[in-house]
Amino acid sequence: MDTTFLHGKIILEDRVLEDGAVVVQQGAIAWLGPTSVLQNKPEPSVDLGGFYLCPGFIDLHVHGGGGVDSMVGDPEALKTIVRTHEAFGTTSLCLATLSAPIDQLHRALASIHQLAARGTGGARLLGSYLEGPFINPARCGPHPVEHILEPDLRCLQSCALAAGGWLRVVSLAPEMPDADKLIRWTVHDMGLIAAIGHTSATCEQTEAAIQAGCRLCTHLFNNMMPFHHRDPNAAGAVLASQAAVAELVMEPTHVHPAAARIALRCLGADRLALITDATSVVGSPDGTGLHGGRRVIFQDGVAQFEDGHLAGSALTMIDAVRAFISQAGVEPAVAVRCASLVPARLLGIGDRLGSIAVGKHADLLVLDPSDLRVLQTYVGGARIYKTDY
Ligand SMILES: [Zn+2]
Repeated sequence: MDTTFLHGKIILEDRVLEDGAVVVQQGAIAWLGPTSVLQNKPEPSVDLGGFYLCPGFIDLHVHGGGGVDSMVGDPEALKTIVRTHEAFGTTSLCLATLSAPIDQLHRALASIHQLAARGTGGARLLGSYLEGPFINPARCGPHPVEHILEPDLRCLQSCALAAGGWLRVVSLAPEMPDADKLIRWTVHDMGLIAAIGHTSATCEQTEAAIQAGCRLCTHLFNNMMPFHHRDPNAAGAVLASQAAVAELVMEPTHVHPAAARIALRCLGADRLALITDATSVVGSPDGTGLHGGRRVIFQDGVAQFEDGHLAGSALTMIDAVRAFISQAGVEPAVAVRCASLVPARLLGIGDRLGSIAVGKHADLLVLDPSDLRVLQTYVGGARIYKTDY
C-alpha cells in the first residue's frame, strides 16, 4: 500500500505542517516533510491541494452505528458499526457493552472477540470495553437497572474469558462493595485499563480508585456527581488528578463548551480523549435504534429514549473534533491529538498508531479544511472510504 501525499496541511502531534508531504510505503509512514524538499516523488501520488491530512481517529467507546447495537451478539452484524464510523474518520475503535443478562453479555463479548480476531477488512477493532454491570444503580444512565450487579470478581473473570483476550477496559463504580478487588485484578493481574464510571463516588473514593490504578474516567461529567468547590466529587477528583485520562463526549447536550475548556486546561492535551459513546442511531437509515433493549429516537442531533432521557449519543468522531475546535475554541492539532494520540497511548499502542510520524501505520484522513468533512479514510495505507468532492 504505497502512496505519496503532496501539498497537504499535515496535522502533526503538536502543529500543522503547511504544504507538507507524507510518503507511505507498505502501509507505514516512511517519510514526511515539506513537499518542496521531496525529491523524486514516489508514485502513485495524491495531490491534496491544501486539504488536511490528519491521523485516523481512535474511538475508545462506541455502542453502535448503522442501526446495529454492540450487544447484538453477531460478529457479521458488528461490521456494520465499524463500516458506519469509518465514514466519520474512525480508523480504530473499541466496542462498548451495556449491562445485560450475563449470558447475553458473554455472547456480546465473544462476538466482539471473534470479529477483532478475524479483522474487519476496514477500521481496526481493538477490542471490547466492559461498561457495567458493576456500576451504581443510582447513576445508571441508559443501563437497564435490573441488570446492574454488585461487583463480583468471578463474574468479571467470566466476562474476561468470554472476551478472549480482547478485553481492553473495565468501567465500574469504585464506591460499590468489593469494587477495589475488581480494580486490583483488572489492573495488576490482567494489565487492563480500569475506568471510573456511572458512579456516585466522592472525591476521596475517586482519589483512592486512581491510587489503586484506575487510569480512565468514563465520559467525564456525565453519570457522576458534578464538581462543587466544597464537594469536588468524582469530577473534581479526576480534574485535579495527575494520572487519570478522561473521556469527553464533546456535544452540547452532554458537556457545555466551557466545561470542555476547563477539562482541557486541567488535564492538558495528553489526558483528554474525545469519544462518541455513539449508539446505533448514528448513520441509521430511519433515525431510530435500540440501546439496552430500549427504543432510541434520533432527532435534532440528540439520541433519546421515548421518556426523553439521553440514550448515549448520536455523535461521530469528526463531529466531536469539529465541536471541540468551533465551540470550545481548541486548536486543530490539539483537538485531533485528543481524538487519536491520547487514546492510542492510553491503550499502549501509541508507538504504532495515533499520529502522523515516521514508522507508524498509515491510518490517515483527508479532511476539507473549510468544514472538516471527511473526504477519505485510510487504514494501513489502504483507502477504505471516499466521498465525492
Ligand atoms: Zn457508554
